[in-house]
Amino acid sequence: MQTDVWNILDTCAFFTQTHPDGKIATVKEIDEEIVNKQSKQYYSNLKTKGLKILEPNKNSIDYVKEKAEETGDLDVLSLTDIKILALGYELQGTIISDDFAIQNVSLYDGLEVISCSGKKIKEIRKWKYRCSACKLVTDEKSETCNICGSGDIFRIKAK
Ligand SMILES: [Zn+2]
Repeated sequence: MQTDVWNILDTCAFFTQTHPDGKIATVKEIDEEIVNKQSKQYYSNLKTKGLKILEPNKNSIDYVKEKAEETGDLDVLSLTDIKILALGYELQGTIISDDFAIQNVSLYDGLEVISCSGKKIKEIRKWKYRCSACKLVTDEKSETCNICGSGDIFRIKAK
């Protein structure tokens, strides 16, 4: 394990106050997601102790969106989530998050993930495929939809 690796903190790190020490960073949007007083206080304390508020560049954001579309997670990710992922990609850091969609995209992209609660997905999720034109859902990916012939087939979460 590298000791100088960046740790990118998602909301759970502030709620649970659980995360690795060392180089820590987050995005400015996290401010709006931290609602309770205790977490806000902790967030302010961390900022005085060196928590960096960083803005990922547009290329990283586009890259992550592409990855998230490939895994089928894009629809459920907020802008904050996307930026957390983009920062993780940019700094090649470890992402600290309890969000399964964030975890999934991180793993898919080969990034390290630590969960605050201990709940962590074990492997990249399996997906089903949905035709965006007629909404047909199938287990196997195909180039074109068997029903309507559309080529817009997207990965979706298997329920
Ligand atoms: Zn179709």
